[in-house]
Amino acid sequence: MTNKYMYFVANWKMFGVLNSLNSLKKVVKFLESFQKKKLVKIIYCPPTTLVHQMSKNLVKTKIKVGAQNCDENENYGAYTGSINSRMLKDAGANYVIIGHSENRQKGETNILINKKIKSALNSGLKVIFCIGETSQEKRKKMTLKILNKQMNLGLKKIKDKSNILVAYEPVWSIGTGVIPKSDDLFNTINFVKSKIKKIKVLYGGSVNSKNIHQLNSIKNIDGFLIGGASQDPNKFIDIIKKTYI
Ligand code: PEP
Repeated sequence: MTNKYMYFVANWKMFGVLNSLNSLKKVVKFLESFQKKKLVKIIYCPPTTLVHQMSKNLVKTKIKVGAQNCDENENYGAYTGSINSRMLKDAGANYVIIGHSENRQKGETNILINKKIKSALNSGLKVIFCIGETSQEKRKKMTLKILNKQMNLGLKKIKDKSNILVAYEPVWSIGTGVIPKSDDLFNTINFVKSKIKKIKVLYGGSVNSKNIHQLNSIKNIDGFLIGGASQDPNKFIDIIKKTYI
């Protein structure tokens, strides 16, 4: 249980069609009547095809919308199939997730991530910057070294970090049902906070309504990036409720 201001970021990944937006009505209704609503910051990150309509649907609510990635080119150009940060802002997004491990696994490098973050910030988007080690890196006790590298290169030459949230997402935890040991998670988040002053750090990886109490006992977490469980409004609401009760 907490009494802290917390972020709840829903990452829908490549799930969701126009019809799926109906599920948000439940979340909007819940938030309106939730006693601790002033402490709750919800950000929905649907597939890009839904960003515009979702932003329109949520315009009168306190829920913000984010995209899941963007092109590194801030200027418009001949980049077939790409969508840049300006377009996302124009479509109604306030946030964008950058550096998700599912994109890193496809070859997104720290240098590319750095370009994307700069472009997003220049376009007026806030950035949810994902970092995290693989299971092999964890086994080799390289977690902090990897995170340090991802932060140094990903945030290179970005002085003002006030519009960046870091999401620590161990790759081995995403979609597996396994979460880090509480002490390890506390220490890792402290490490991130020691490297970037005044940064908010979210945790992501298999967050659900069963492990949320354990996660909330870790006092330096500023919120959660939630994949699978965010697609079901009841599960998402349950996670938020259990954070405060
Ligand atoms: C994610 O993809 O960012 C994520 C945290 O997924 P899940 O909650 O399903 O592990």
